[in-house]
Amino acid sequence: MIPNEVIIDLEAIRDNFFAVKTLAGHDTRILAVVKADAYGHGVIPVAATLESAGADYLGVFDLEEALHLRQAGCRLPILVMMGIRAEEVPAVLENGLTPALFQQEIAEALSRASVQHHKVTPVHVKVDTGMTRLGVPSPAARSFLQSLTSMKGIRVEGMFSHLATSDQPENPFTEQQIGLFSKILNMARDLGICPEIVHIANSGALLDKKGFSLGMVRPGILLYGSPPSPGRAPDIPLKPAMCFKSRVIQVQSVPAGTPISYGCTYRTPARCTIAAIPVGYDDGYSRMLSNKGEVLIRGKRVPVVGRVTMNLTMLNVSSVEGVAVGDEVVLLGSQGRERITAEEIAEKIGTISYEVLCNFGKSNRRTYVHPR
Ligand SMILES: *Cc1c(COP(=O)(O)O)cnc(C)c1O
Repeated sequence: MIPNEVIIDLEAIRDNFFAVKTLAGHDTRILAVVKADAYGHGVIPVAATLESAGADYLGVFDLEEALHLRQAGCRLPILVMMGIRAEEVPAVLENGLTPALFQQEIAEALSRASVQHHKVTPVHVKVDTGMTRLGVPSPAARSFLQSLTSMKGIRVEGMFSHLATSDQPENPFTEQQIGLFSKILNMARDLGICPEIVHIANSGALLDKKGFSLGMVRPGILLYGSPPSPGRAPDIPLKPAMCFKSRVIQVQSVPAGTPISYGCTYRTPARCTIAAIPVGYDDGYSRMLSNKGEVLIRGKRVPVVGRVTMNLTMLNVSSVEGVAVGDEVVLLGSQGRERITAEEIAEKIGTISYEVLCNFGKSNRRTYVHPR
């Protein structure tokens, strides 16, 4: 069996939740974002941990993720952030889900079905305030909201928007978006729509204490223990929840000038000890880490040498005494006093920690460490 393993520390996720809660203040509700299989950490155990820690709401991307949670017995309110298609209306009603709403036809379909089943379906109206991704475009907000006032069977429980630049504390665009969102909220109130749950703050905004006053915040990445942008030292204690480990499967001593891996992109500068691990880009370890990545073995950092291949990567372990087949190799996480973070890997390959976590989580067998 492949010795690779992604280990998820649920206690770290719980503690990160508590840290966010403390920062946001005890009156602020928390919608924990668990889309993309909880950023690769596994949505079912993560949601159960967050539910018992006191999360008020869960946010998923699509209906399928929401149904998966309900089937596993999750009872928290769930916001389907991508919205729904008309065919999905029955499943929303049956499973007590809250769709993001930004389309007239969907509002009408929800209204009709809800009235027919003597139900009132909660919705969160999603407004696009400048991200230009998803939501009612702000110029169309008034007429959309107006049309909702005459629809029976749906209740505008919430309104929300998403921030484009919250990972850049100095960027004035965030305040512009928040300002526009407040205007649209006032417009809604003038029309008699008074949503009780209003939210805009993702992790970046949270760290800057922006958008707290609205009543609910929507953290994702912070819960998994990574800052929303690299080099941003958050003033809350964060514990990275994911660790990715493998083991050495071969060790060889080679003379100076020996080429390593496809393309012979690395040649040993002297006699070297090269170790192979069964991890490659198929396991979420990017090929862009070729000749760039570092991993931990026997508590020390060693470099990836040559190209990362589909399922194998070579390490120059010459600086470490006694490396042997079976030794544990940490690709993400800590070993001894050293730690490799998702931010560090992300920076080397020109992406963000979010993508690194999603890739490692989805490509490997996961095991869980439960809170004590
Ligand atoms: C992903 C997402 C979040 C969470 O973002 P983080 O940066 O991980 O905190 C919040 N809201 C929406 C709509 C999202 O898509």
